[in-house]
Formats: sequence, C-alpha cells, structure tokens
Amino acid sequence: MTAPAFGRFFLPGPTDVHPEVLAALVRPMIGHRSGAMERLLQGMQLPLARLFRTSRTVLVGTTSATGFMELAARNGVRRRALSLVNGSFSERFAKLVQACGKECLRLDVPPGCAVEPDMLRDALRRSPVDAVTVVHSETSTGVLQDLEALAAVVREFDDVLLLADAVTSVAGSPVETDRWQLDFALTGSQKALALPPGLALGVASERMLERAKTLPNRGLYFDLVSFTEATVKHQPTNTPAISLLYALETQLARIERDGGVEARWRRHDAMRSRVEAWSEQRGVPYLPREGRRSWTVSCLKVPEGKSAKAIVGGLKEAGWTIGAGYGPLKETTIRIGHMGDHTVGALEELLALLDGLMT
Ligand SMILES: *Cc1c(COP(=O)(O)O)cnc(C)c1O
Repeated sequence: MTAPAFGRFFLPGPTDVHPEVLAALVRPMIGHRSGAMERLLQGMQLPLARLFRTSRTVLVGTTSATGFMELAARNGVRRRALSLVNGSFSERFAKLVQACGKECLRLDVPPGCAVEPDMLRDALRRSPVDAVTVVHSETSTGVLQDLEALAAVVREFDDVLLLADAVTSVAGSPVETDRWQLDFALTGSQKALALPPGLALGVASERMLERAKTLPNRGLYFDLVSFTEATVKHQPTNTPAISLLYALETQLARIERDGGVEARWRRHDAMRSRVEAWSEQRGVPYLPREGRRSWTVSCLKVPEGKSAKAIVGGLKEAGWTIGAGYGPLKETTIRIGHMGDHTVGALEELLALLDGLMT
C-alpha cells in the first residue's frame, strides 16, 4: 500500500501528520525516570504554556482526549454539573459526568446551534450547579461556541467551575486559558496539533486544583493532584508514550519556528474563510450560522439529490479524505477537517474536486 502524499487527509481527526513530525517517532527509547526524560518534559513546558496562553503548568497525559474529559469530571465536579449539549462530543461530556457518579443537568440546543450566553445565565439561575461542561468547537457539527462570553457568564456565579473541551480549538483558533479564566481546558494530540493520536493535554486553574483536593474518588490515573505534583517536577506519572512525546517536542518547535500559535490561528482562519467563500459561490449551505463556525472543521449540508456517501467516496477515489457527517448527521452533512498542518493551497485543490461532486 502506498500512502498518498501529505496534505490530502482532511478527516476532522485524526488529521494529517507532517513527515517531519512522523520522523521523530522512530527515535530510540529513553528511560521514563531518566534525566533525559526530565529534560524532554521540562523543555516542552514553555512552548506548551504559550500554546494554551497560560502561565500555569500544562499537563500531558498518555490517553486520548476523552481521558482528560474524564479527568475534568472526576476532579472538577463536586455534586452536580450543567452540561451544554449541542452535538455528539458535548453529549459525551454529559454522559461522562454521570458515569463518574455525579449528577448532570443538561442544556440542549439543536445540532448546528450554539448555546448563547443568555441561555446559560438563565439555566444557571434556575438550577444551582458547581460546574459547567462545554465543548468549544463541536467537531460533530462544526459549531464554535463563544467560549469567552460563556466563561464570563459562569464567573457571575459563585464557586462554579468551567470545564472546557477545546479539542479542536487549541492550536487552531484562539483559546485564552488564563484571560478567559477557564478552570480546565483540554485537547488531544490528533486534532489541530496534528500529531498522531494518544496524548491529551490540559491546564487546570488554581480553583480547580483546590477543589480536586477536597473530592473523593478521583481515581488514580486521572488524579489531578498527583498528576500536577509530578508535572511540576517534570516527571511522568506512569510510563508515557515516549515516541509521541518526541513528536510533540518536534511539533512545538515547528509551531514556534512558523511564527507561534497566532500564526497558526491566522492560517486556520484563512482556511475557514476560504471554505465560506466557496460555499457562498456554490450555494452549498453550512450547518452552523455565520459567526458560529469552527476554524478547524467546516460542516456543510449535502445538497438535495446528492449523497454524503457518494461525495466522500468520490474524493476517496481521487486520493483525498474528508469526514462524513457524525452520528445522526451522517447522511445530511459532510465535514472538512482543515486543521493542523493543512494549507489554503491544498484546500483549494480539495474544493476544486468538491465542485464536481457537490454542485
Ligand atoms: C475528537 C474529539 C474528542 C475525543 O477525542 P479522543 O481523542 O477520541 O478521545 C472530544 N471532543 C472533541 C470536540 C473532539 O473533536
């Protein structure tokens, strides 16, 4: 099997991994309690903090992103959370809160919509909770929530933590962990960071860490307190996915070399607006409304008489990959995951192919 060249794999996660990053995976092992490991972890802290726009410690775990969603629920929810549900991943967050033995109230909006700040304020006034879960960029519908405004609403209430899944926003569109006062912000390696899957990354606020200390049943693998203690000493909690850490180190250096996280945001914004222009010209509507569209994944409605399966299959034949709709949207939408190391140039080629298949 010959793999297609880099730049044609537009799945909304895992996304394409640059050859320079893939090359880092073949480096020899080091001991996970060695000085070399300590230097590796220490060296990544500053670029990771710049990525998350935080002055706090960035946790790196060997787990898919869902593992850190579980960490958020175990360490951030005392008794009862309000989960903002507008698609499959935010639904997962709600289910996870319950699976961790906590009560979960839901604020549901239809797929393709965002939860607006007033709706959140009303819900918090009606029912007291001690945490709110939210998905910033809902990858199943392509909706980008106004996380900054939602966070400001949460701050109006006393002792409520905001737990944010920023899996397809960190490294792809602005996430200001400190400035927006997010209590937990998490991502995974295989989305806008464009690494192979297997790592989760997150930042917890001081409030969250203090609350965690008071909660029983934090478990062991995802105990925020011991995880943080190890991380500040540049130690892994257990044997980490060492090869993925090499890839992360390489990718962080590439991000810094290419102008930092802000340049990365600008490239993603350019990709988003390129798809927007195409959709307008061709009359192919988006699922989310203007102003609430993710910078990393574009979710488009399949025109009447066309089939999502045929569109995705036609691209596959030409050597390109995009995502079909997710879950209940499988037949009616397609999703272009223009995230990570993709470029406007490659996206142009993809859209030219879509012209023939979708319009
Ligand atoms: C992909 C994704 C997840 C889950 O990631 P895993 O790494 O598969 O656990 C969670 N939330 C969002 C928004 C995602 O896009």
